[in-house]
Amino acid sequence: MSSVSTATVNEAQDLVRESAAGAVLLSVRGVSKSYGTRPALKNVDLEVRAGEFVALLGPNGAGKSTLFQLLTGLFNADAGEVQVCGQNMRVAPVRALGRIGVVFQQMTLDMDLSVEANLVFHARLHGIGGAQAKARIADALARLGLAERRGDRVRELSGGNRRKVELARALVHQPSVLLMDEATVGLDPASRRHLLDEVLALRASGVGVLWASHLVDEAEGADRVLVLHKGELLAQGTPAELVAASGCATLAEAFLGMTRSGQAVEPA
Ligand code: ADP
Ligand code: MG
Repeated sequence: MSSVSTATVNEAQDLVRESAAGAVLLSVRGVSKSYGTRPALKNVDLEVRAGEFVALLGPNGAGKSTLFQLLTGLFNADAGEVQVCGQNMRVAPVRALGRIGVVFQQMTLDMDLSVEANLVFHARLHGIGGAQAKARIADALARLGLAERRGDRVRELSGGNRRKVELARALVHQPSVLLMDEATVGLDPASRRHLLDEVLALRASGVGVLWASHLVDEAEGADRVLVLHKGELLAQGTPAELVAASGCATLAEAFLGMTRSGQAVEPA
């Protein structure tokens, strides 16, 4: 067997393994990062598994976007390790990044290009061209109810639809892990809900999602919630587990209590 076909077989086997329910797709171990002498992340450990929606809940300044920059290889952690589908971000960044789809906190679409042109460019960056790109883009836009807006300039779209275009773009190369950083900021409540529902629905296809937000209501439907405060993970569990451990009546109260005191809740 030639080396090329061996590599292809290995990759195919990886894909089968990682689509198995519960396989760890994203692994963060002992990650720390400081800006100068100011720590932004302190010894963070987390995992996202296939088909899981994990909410990373933290107030402004908690370190969510810093973590996303490490997860997308924009810079390296001072300590610790990030792996995507078994690929180490430091050692094999191209392979690791190939398995990630991301929507950053700041919109990164070209406002004067059409919806489709924004997606074609991204597909090509991932080595997808021609008819395959066209089909993938049509699929992604149709799934999000944007098929009719394909030829419109992004500038003509509402804020909610612009975010959906970014979501479609993040999915075009069929990533295993989807990262969403405060994707609903600035959207009205209906658009916010709609975007969140679209992402929650991706679980059925085995995608693992890390959804960063400071809004507690967006974490209510998560499989797991990680509470990040001043660079530290204070607690993690299902929404029900966090509420029970806090002794509070709601997740919102539990989150407020933790981030006010900076104390992790003790298991009940
Ligand atoms: P979040 O996304 O949760 O609001 P950030 O990761 O943006 O948090 O910020 C975490 C901390 O790091 C904050 O105190 C912020 O001021 C600081 N910070 C973020 N980016 C930089 C930077 N490029 N240089 C210096 N400090 C930064
Ligand atoms: Mg942020």
